[in-house]
Amino acid sequence: MDKETQAKMLESLIGRESVRVDEPLAAYTTFLIGGPADFLVSPRTEEQVCSVVAWCREADVPFRVMGLGSDVLVSDRGVRGVVLRLAENFAAMSFEGEVVQVQAGCSNEEVARAACLAGLSGYEFACGIPGTVGGAAIMNAGAYGGEFKDVAEAVRCLTSAGEVVDVPAAEAAWSYRHSMMDEAGSIVLGATLRLVPGECGAIQARMDDLAQRRSEKQPLEMPSAGSTFKRPEGCFVGQLVQEAGLRGYRVGGAQVSEKHTGFVVNAGGATADDVRRLVAVVQERVLAHAGVLLEPEVRMWGFED
Ligand SMILES: Cc1cc2nc3c(=O)[nH]c(=O)nc-3n(C[C@H](O)[C@H](O)[C@H](O)COP(=O)(O)OP(=O)(O)OC[C@H]3O[C@@H](n4cnc5c(N)ncnc54)[C@H](O)[C@@H]3O)c2cc1C
Repeated sequence: MDKETQAKMLESLIGRESVRVDEPLAAYTTFLIGGPADFLVSPRTEEQVCSVVAWCREADVPFRVMGLGSDVLVSDRGVRGVVLRLAENFAAMSFEGEVVQVQAGCSNEEVARAACLAGLSGYEFACGIPGTVGGAAIMNAGAYGGEFKDVAEAVRCLTSAGEVVDVPAAEAAWSYRHSMMDEAGSIVLGATLRLVPGECGAIQARMDDLAQRRSEKQPLEMPSAGSTFKRPEGCFVGQLVQEAGLRGYRVGGAQVSEKHTGFVVNAGGATADDVRRLVAVVQERVLAHAGVLLEPEVRMWGFED
């Protein structure tokens, strides 16, 4: 099936306005890096997500899901097949007492702010994590002592078998940047959160404090995908990178941040190849210096061959 026919099929499933062909992905990522997706689609309903995925499987077209692109490095050649972007149209939220239903495309910041207005505490930790609920659920995002698993009661998923199921928290197997859903190739459609009553002013003050601590420590003024590597047992990535003499080290437009050596930043015009090469240099030097092999936290898209 040629690309034009594939585009028409997708349009017939979810509407012409929700399908972009050969869409450059850089602007959809916080790194501001990356080539085009064959198809970038923005479903509006669970049924649309299910029908796009079913079609991809049937037509043998690869697919992947994107939230706010704050933890991905897209290759310069881009990615083949379909990217389902949930951040655009899949962002409904509702409150009932202390229980919050959120669709996967809600941003963490929106959820935290809405919870604050509703006098609910517990999601403040995620306010400065610049991704979606889907991204947070799939990798158990966390910061400043809080993790997604602490507030989630259940996660609604489209499984790799094509079923929509509500996975209770006890079955999600969340641990550091890991979930059962990720391992099983499920798509997160939404989540049920349970928060606790709090005073709006105090919740806001906590979010302001965390935002200030972030901006003091992290290079938020430069494009990045956050911490480039997972935290190894018993040590800090930033310290290992600094001790390996790599503060400010550059490959092309990619740079180890001067402000926080655990971040690789796009210092201007970086290509995905620059970032990949810099990541490899950091891994080699830290291994040689400290005997620790750093594992990327950032997901690499489109580098398969
Ligand atoms: C400045 C900065 C600071 C950051 N600070 C933190 C932090 O403190 N703590 C932290 O944990 N992370 C942090 N991050 C990383 C990132 O924001 C989180 O990992 C976030 O959870 C990614 O969410 P996303 O929606 O952007 O996912 P994306 O980057 O779009 O996707 C990341 C991965 O999740 C998958 N995915 C996304 N949505 C879904 C879904 N609905 N169903 C299935 N799979 C999905 C994607 O396929 C991909 O594999 C930071 C990033 C930046 C740029």
